[in-house]
Amino acid sequence: MKALGGCSSMNAMVYVRGNPSDFNGWQDDHGAAGWGYLDVLPYFIRAEGNTRCRGPLHGTDGPLHVEDLVYRHELSQAWVESAVKWGLTANEDFNGETQMGAGPFQVTCRDGLRWSASDAYLRPALDRPNPSSAACGQSSGCTNTGTFRRANSARIGSWNGSPK
Ligand SMILES: Cc1cc2nc3c(=O)[nH]c(=O)nc-3n(C[C@H](O)[C@H](O)[C@H](O)COP(=O)(O)OP(=O)(O)OC[C@H]3O[C@@H](n4cnc5c(N)ncnc54)[C@H](O)[C@@H]3O)c2cc1C
Repeated sequence: MKALGGCSSMNAMVYVRGNPSDFNGWQDDHGAAGWGYLDVLPYFIRAEGNTRCRGPLHGTDGPLHVEDLVYRHELSQAWVESAVKWGLTANEDFNGETQMGAGPFQVTCRDGLRWSASDAYLRPALDRPNPSSAACGQSSGCTNTGTFRRANSARIGSWNGSPK
């Protein structure tokens, strides 16, 4: 998606991390060394600024704001209540000990408004001397170094490919 923040500027804002068994499966069964759940968990925690959930699986002061839904439709509430009456475990935290159960999810919002990757990371960095934003720019190549493949240079052109 061509927008600052990419898909986080138009997604459904649900904040549910990948299931731990997926990360561990990618590592153990498919050779993605260093991508097990316990490897990536510190980065989720560091990113997260959760206004309600606390404890060892959550971050409270990260740049990505996470909060409860400001508005819950009564049908959503009724659906969750009926699921719990039926026998599912009530779950108020799908990024906690288990993702099983029924409950309201949290969202990447701040005070009820979308909080995109751009709000979390790009806008706070705009005062720095080095980043430049090319909203209509297209990178035609970048070089990667380091463990986490940080892009340290990129050629930026307009969408028709001419250099800028
Ligand atoms: C409709 C929808 C709803 C979703 N709902 C949720 C949800 O509720 N919860 C959730 O967790 N996830 C959701 N997702 C998925 C989530 O939004 C994405 O997985 C996530 O945003 C991906 O982030 P990203 O940074 O990897 O990539 P992107 O967000 O895709 O960012 C890549 C960026 O790079 C830019 N780009 C690409 N090629 C070039 C180039 N050559 N030069 C310059 N720029 C380039 C793109 O324009 C884009 O801005 C949803 C996705 C969609 C589409």
